[in-house]
Amino acid sequence: MIKIAIDGPGGAGKSTVAKAVAAKLGIIYVDTGALYRTVGLYVKMQGVSPEDKAGVIGCLGGIHIELGYVDGKQHVYLNGKDHGDEIRTPEMSMYASKVSAIPEVRAFLLDTQRDIASKNSVIMDGRDIGTVILPDAEVKIFLTASEECRAKRRYEELIAKGQKVTYEDVLNEMNQRDRQDSTREVAPTAAAADAVLLDNTGMTFDQTVDAVVALAQKAQNK
Ligand code: C5P
Repeated sequence: MIKIAIDGPGGAGKSTVAKAVAAKLGIIYVDTGALYRTVGLYVKMQGVSPEDKAGVIGCLGGIHIELGYVDGKQHVYLNGKDHGDEIRTPEMSMYASKVSAIPEVRAFLLDTQRDIASKNSVIMDGRDIGTVILPDAEVKIFLTASEECRAKRRYEELIAKGQKVTYEDVLNEMNQRDRQDSTREVAPTAAAADAVLLDNTGMTFDQTVDAVVALAQKAQNK
């Protein structure tokens, strides 16, 4: 069993890299951002503002979240229903970032994340995986890239999904979210003291995947 934690700001390529590494190593990829997005979606469905802390906490009792895997692809079930790409819009990114700053929301999602890692070999991406969720992970990586590079990647990803966005909007939204995520009081985006810092600004996708696989293999051979 191996646990690989990948943290870092938005647009660094955490999820695409983690997915590819999971396929190469035959382990499960856990996208923890999807859990916060799902809480955000429920909060929106209830007509509650993500900034209304008491309102958001009040929503938690009505949420049952389950993770499932179909052909290696993660599905998040909110009260039994998979909402697919509904959680992937820029609006839901912002909802997720706001609700994730509430300690009760983080505590609510803790067991779901730890449970899956206790039963499977995983590569899990997020903001606090190496620092809070899996402090005993065998491999910890803090993946980052320059601001322009990250915004460009996020922009191209959204355009490919058919969303109508401008580069400037993507850059602004990304910076606002990273600021929120890295300055919040609980579990801010941070590299664990024992994480490997990987800046992939000048690297291709394959080079990044290979670098992560090499770190995993080194840890497994220890
Ligand atoms: O990674 P993704 O962009 O899907 O995450 C959406 C939001 O969820 C992030 O901006 C962050 O606020 C929150 N998040 C978090 N901790 C994680 C994963 C995501 O706070 N482990």
